[in-house]
Amino acid sequence: MTEADLLRADCTRCAALCCMAPAFDKSPSFGFDKPPETPCSNLDGEGRCVIHADLATKGFAGCAAYDCHGAGQRVTQEIFAGRSWLAEPQLKAPMTRAFMAMRRIHELLAMLKAAQALPLDDSERQALTALHDRLQPSGGWSEAALSGAPIDDIAAHTHEFLRSLRRHVSP
Ligand code: SF4
Repeated sequence: MTEADLLRADCTRCAALCCMAPAFDKSPSFGFDKPPETPCSNLDGEGRCVIHADLATKGFAGCAAYDCHGAGQRVTQEIFAGRSWLAEPQLKAPMTRAFMAMRRIHELLAMLKAAQALPLDDSERQALTALHDRLQPSGGWSEAALSGAPIDDIAAHTHEFLRSLRRHVSP
């Protein structure tokens, strides 16, 4: 699988995690408050959004704009082997924890992927590779590895690295 495929959301292979795991606050982008680890009331029993065709007009434009960067199907297929909280409600909590962690990891990977297109020098490419390897460990991710991952630390270093690349994008 290419990095582009890895970071592209595939809802057909996901257990509707973005409609269950995160919390949403009522706002112009989301019609009501939704606590974390709680299915949205617009989700049907099969994991489909009943207002999918009308998200923006019904006050849920945030859902249409949301991008998990491929974290949803990865958690569903790779971490939970295709199982779903829809059939096994006891998986809500562990799938939420894994999704929230993987979502951050994939967001950071997407940022590094964008940075790869810049004219980086050798030391910058090495730094990018080192960060990428922390986000994509050779042994892959497991539920336990995700829960113990120092994601805040990796995120801080990734943001610091990206800030250091400003010279490549400044006019
Ligand atoms: S409104 Fe639809 S897309 Fe948005 S969280 Fe609820 S079920 Fe998911």
